[in-house]
This record gives sequence, C-alpha cells and structure tokens, in this order.
Amino acid sequence: MKAVPLLDLKRQFQYMEAELMEALRRCLDHQRWILGPEVEEFEEAARSYLRVSNAIGVASGTDALVVALRALAIKIKGREYFDPADEIITTPFTFTATGDAILRAGATPVFVDIDPLSFNLNPERMGEYLENHAERVVGILPVHLYGNPCQMDQIMELAEAYGLFVVEDVAQAFGGEWEGRKLGTIGTVGAFSFFPTKNLGGWGDGGLVVTDDEELAEIIRMLGRHGGRDKYNAEHIGYNSRLDTFQAAILKVKLKHVDEFNKRRRQIAALYEKGFSTFESVELPHFQGGHVFHQYTIRIKKGNRDKAREHLKQRAVATAVYYPLCLHQMSLFLGRCRMAGSLREAERATKEVLSLPMDPLLEEKEVAYVVSTLREVLT
Ligand SMILES: *Cc1c(COP(=O)(O)O)cnc(C)c1O
Repeated sequence: MKAVPLLDLKRQFQYMEAELMEALRRCLDHQRWILGPEVEEFEEAARSYLRVSNAIGVASGTDALVVALRALAIKIKGREYFDPADEIITTPFTFTATGDAILRAGATPVFVDIDPLSFNLNPERMGEYLENHAERVVGILPVHLYGNPCQMDQIMELAEAYGLFVVEDVAQAFGGEWEGRKLGTIGTVGAFSFFPTKNLGGWGDGGLVVTDDEELAEIIRMLGRHGGRDKYNAEHIGYNSRLDTFQAAILKVKLKHVDEFNKRRRQIAALYEKGFSTFESVELPHFQGGHVFHQYTIRIKKGNRDKAREHLKQRAVATAVYYPLCLHQMSLFLGRCRMAGSLREAERATKEVLSLPMDPLLEEKEVAYVVSTLREVLT
C-alpha cells in the first residue's frame, strides 16, 4: 500500500482539471484581478446554494470572523470595536482564529466547555453561565467543529432569551445542515473559510460572510473595502480584505462539486464506522444528520493516542491532532479570556483525539488499510 494522505489536493485537481483550467484561462484573458467578474458570480452562486440574501467575499476565514464581529459592534453599540467588558461565548476547543477574532473585535472571549460526544459547545453549560452573567454577554460564537453541526435550536433559544447575536464559525462545515437549513445561515451571521484544505477550498486564502440582515451586510462590505461605500471616502476603520478574482474563479467551479464531495465524505465515514465497530478502545464520532466530515476524528483512550499515531506514521498513514491545546491554554489568551467553570472535557479531548485520512476521493482499499493498520496496535 502506498502512503495514505490526510487529504490529497492533487487528486481533486485532476478530477476537475479541465473546468478549473478553463476558469483560470478566463481570468488570464480579462486580467481584472481585484473584484473581477468572478467575485460577484461566485457570491451569487454561494447565495443561491446557501439560500441567504447576502454573501460577501473576504480575504480569509479569519477576516470573515473579524469583520462580522466588528460590523456587529458598529450596528449594536454604535462604536468601531467592542470593549473588554463585552463578552462573547465560544468554545475553547477550536482553531486559534475563532478566539483571536473576538480579541481583535475588542471583546473578551468566554470559554464554555464542550459536549464530549459532539466536541461542540455544550448548550447546558452555556445556559448556566448566562443565568448568572447575562448582563455582560453580547453574543455567542459557535463552531461547527470537524463539520459536525452544533445544537443550533438550543443555541438560538438562548440567544433569543438573552437578546444575543450568534456568529457561526462555519470554516469547517461548508454545505452542512441543521434541520434542513444550511449551516452559517441560522445565526445572525455566518463566517466561512476557503483555506485550501477546507470542504470548499481555494488555491490560497479566502473567506465569505453571509447574513440575511441588510444593515449588517452593508457594514461588512464596507469594512472589507477600506471602511467606506466609496474607497476614497471612508466611514469606518476598515481593512483591505477582498476575495481574489482568481480564488473566486476556482471556488465557483469547486462549488458545483461540493455536494458530491460531501456525500462521498459521509460514505467514507460510514466505512470507517463499520471498520471500527468491533474496536473497544476507539470511540467514534457522534453521527449527526447534516455532518459534512471535514475531519473524521476518533478518540483513542487510555493514553494510547500517541502510540497509535506513531504506528500509523510508520505504516505511512497520515494523521493529525486537531487540536493539541485548548485556546485558554495558549499564552495569547492568558489574562484576556474568561473561563465559565471547568473546561475538563475540552482538555481531555486534546489528549484523545486523532483525525484520520479524510478525502472525498479516498479509495475504499485505503480506508480498509487505515482500519487494519490501527487494528495492529488497538483492539
Ligand atoms: C480554518 C479555520 C478558521 C480560519 O480560516 P482561515 O481561512 O485560515 O483564516 C477559523 N475557524 C476555524 C474553526 C477554522 O477551522
């Protein structure tokens, strides 16, 4: 067996090479690199796919989060930034950018523990924090980690009860759904990333902000374009954060394949699930309808994770640990965050999780090889 990669972008390129090359050729011909026609075409395609009234391209998923939060500060508080007394609830078990965006918008992240089955924010724990500290909290930032939908009905109920905004971090869940609605369109704003390895990935950085709120959409659009409706007459402290024409051209092609690829990811997840069904020391992901398996992440108990990982590496199976540290354990967040009680489950997850190869074009025999190789060290 050849090496099994975590993800194989070369296979994906070859799979749709002709369409991609044609889209690129079109860009080379028109040479309109900044906000060229493909950007609007892609935004339109994304709006219709996600069934949302505004979709605004930005330069990265991180920027999508930052401009979404900044726009909310401007709309709700009438100020450019939140201030540190304003709290935003989020998960400590996520990529750095989620919490960093809260700091960059001027607010304080409040970390609430995760649910051990879904790896996502635990709504009960969130409710407990809100019961005692509601007056400080302005919003909730749930992350659909690994492509697995958060409990959006409970999150939206809390948001409504306490008058909070919800910014969904949909970086890992393009195409995912919660009760028939696309993730990213349930909260006030959704922030997507098109980092190359995401379920919908470009050939460089890119991001998208979506919302049904027209006023917010207008502010978001301004923030990404130097802070004004007209870039020679700014109103806000803005950024130069636009989706590249070139990336939009690639993404427009790849968007057509995203459902097919997400379906294939679910099939691979089902193969893994069958393969691991007899393993006692492996805990499998909690299957949820609408999960798009950005990662297929298992738990390996009893301190055996690193041993298993090393064995897989010896046998040329690539794996990853998302994430080896929680946000509250990083020096960046020291003294800049609040912890809503114990974050025990998030901390335990960092020691047990292992993400296995997950690529829409992974072959059945590769999945079988990963399972049998893991069987050599675990039962
Ligand atoms: C990738 C990612 C981001 C950031 O996206 P970039 O496009 O890399 O800036 C934010 N949040 C989560 C959960 C991510 O996985």
